[in-house]
Amino acid sequence: AGSGRRPLVAGNWKMNGTRASLATVEGIRDGLSPALLEKIDVLICPPATLISSCVAATYGSPIAIGGQNLHARPSGAFTGSISAEMLADLGAKYVIVGHSERRAYHHETDDGVHAKALGARRAGLCGIICVGETMEEREQGRALSIVRAQLAIGIPKGATAQDTVIAYEPVWAIGSGRTPTPAEIAEVHASLREMLDKLVGEEAAKIRILYGGSVKPGNARELMAVENVDGALVGGASLVAEDFLGICNAY
Ligand code: PGA
Repeated sequence: AGSGRRPLVAGNWKMNGTRASLATVEGIRDGLSPALLEKIDVLICPPATLISSCVAATYGSPIAIGGQNLHARPSGAFTGSISAEMLADLGAKYVIVGHSERRAYHHETDDGVHAKALGARRAGLCGIICVGETMEEREQGRALSIVRAQLAIGIPKGATAQDTVIAYEPVWAIGSGRTPTPAEIAEVHASLREMLDKLVGEEAAKIRILYGGSVKPGNARELMAVENVDGALVGGASLVAEDFLGICNAY
């Protein structure tokens, strides 16, 4: 509140969903009130196989559709990969970059995240750059230094609010039902915002920083009220229209 930043509630379906799941997108589309859509931005990131049909299902609505990953290069001999240009061609507006599952299972590095964020920008997509510490790193007192480094290396030079969103997702909070306390979230978000200031100057005040990790209808209001939290990146709860709507309705 008072930040001037428009909240973004983003759903990350991960590797879930077939054509039957279009009913979920339709449920979200039909359940969002016009009054709410004047206040917040809403994004769904389905698996790449559903981007086209989700774009069609939300045609004429303010709901945006995004990708969950991209290859940094625009095209080439990279079997199985999808470029930012291909996502944009389907009507995607955003793409998640450097999610902790990509970092853990696909060995994505901070430099790789940087290259992908540049790829997103090249194609006119908004990159949602994910950062977050493991529980071990938190216990060692390294949470802030880890996320600040991930941000500093990952973010493109000259990033703007148009092409960049940051998401703080503590690895240990993802899919676990555990969340940091509001004070812990506030500490990390303040630190990331200060780092953003150093990295991009004045524009920093406009760039949104989302919180992600076990956001549910029952905790959304408390989490979204934390200072410098400009929205949510929602995994599990984005797979059920009522749950995702419950989170959106926290605003
Ligand atoms: P979760 O996932 O909401 O299921 O914890 C969040 C994420 O991975 O983006």
